[in-house]
Amino acid sequence: MSKGLPETRTDTAMSELVPEPRPKPAVPMKPVGINPNLLGYIGIDTIIEQMRKKTMKTGFDFNIMVVGQSGLGKSTLVNTLFKSQVSRKASSWNREEKIPKTVEIKAIGHVIEEGGVKMKLTVIDTPGFGDQINNENCWEPIEKYINEQYEKFLKEEVNIARKKRIPDTRVHCCLYFISPTGHSVPLEWWQWLSGGGHGGSDTPPPLGPSLRPLDLEFMKHLSKVVNIIPVIAKADTMTLEEKSEFKQRVRKELEVNGIEFYPQKEFDEDLEDKTENDKIRQESMPFAVVGSDKEYQVNGKRVLGRKTPWGIIEVENLNHCEFALLRDFVIRTHLQDLKEVTHNIHYETYRAKRLNDNGGLPPGEGLLGTVLPPVPATPCPTAE
Ligand code: GDP
Ligand code: MG
Repeated sequence: MSKGLPETRTDTAMSELVPEPRPKPAVPMKPVGINPNLLGYIGIDTIIEQMRKKTMKTGFDFNIMVVGQSGLGKSTLVNTLFKSQVSRKASSWNREEKIPKTVEIKAIGHVIEEGGVKMKLTVIDTPGFGDQINNENCWEPIEKYINEQYEKFLKEEVNIARKKRIPDTRVHCCLYFISPTGHSVPLEWWQWLSGGGHGGSDTPPPLGPSLRPLDLEFMKHLSKVVNIIPVIAKADTMTLEEKSEFKQRVRKELEVNGIEFYPQKEFDEDLEDKTENDKIRQESMPFAVVGSDKEYQVNGKRVLGRKTPWGIIEVENLNHCEFALLRDFVIRTHLQDLKEVTHNIHYETYRAKRLNDNGGLPPGEGLLGTVLPPVPATPCPTAE
């Protein structure tokens, strides 16, 4: 067979046996820093302005979900965050009337414009979550909704004639509302305080857990599919000591239960990110917030606040609550990162699993068809 080979091929084979010394590469292997002052202005930095103009033209999507028991102030807080009525609040809040029998998912879209930039905001409300006597598996419809949005995006992405801009309905951020009543004195305490004693000891028994089993169960399941930001609702109902002690206990309970919330440690990109996010993880989380969509006059200025017999709680005043910290974090410093982590981590995990399960074929073409297999039913403890 080798006889039939053209001569040139044999020559090549021979030369491979005796390698010639490699010529030095004409271009250095490592990039060398160029001093633009020497060579004149190139204009690389205008990319920022170009990106700004593009974003101004197209706008951007941001989808925020709120989860937590009815009456914790979810609708009020998103209205406070975006300074507009983006979430419907019943005018006279009536627990009996409003609570649905099962968890419902309601998405409402708005366009908010500021400084010429358009944000297509979708607020996804989850009425009925944690409101039943038996809250078993009540996180499932929420997980299903989140996955359905990934599926929609994936289908658009694998289309041959795909849209120039795929509509993004994926949940970028999930605010999870923790009830502030976790700090209340447990029954044992009352028995001890009212003279019953506690096993003959003078030391008070330790406080009960701050998070309900339902809180832990929700965050355990959902932190792997969406960016969860835990918040302590109605922080004006706690004293300063209670608030700081409650926050510490919540952080500890999340850590003990291996629950990671946003910003997740493993996704810090550099030391700067790590330093900034460590501060948030160790000090600010979970943000203890107060919401209000009513304005009052304080020292000649209009402020959003809650009027009480002993004064006005100003929601944006850091001496009153941590609402401003949450607002800065979600909107002013981490909004783009929330979107990137959703796309690069959560959606990518879903996409890889989905294509893998489908033998490498796009959804709809392979073994699985278009419908996701049902989420396996895992029992979820009942809320207290
Ligand atoms: P949702 O069911 O979780 O959406 O709760 P809403 O936003 O409808 O609020 C329920 C009730 O709690 C309303 O009467 C609100 O005015 C009140 N509320 C909302 N946020 C706060 C807060 O931060 N502190 C206090 N004390 N009450 C609040
Ligand atoms: Mg509501």
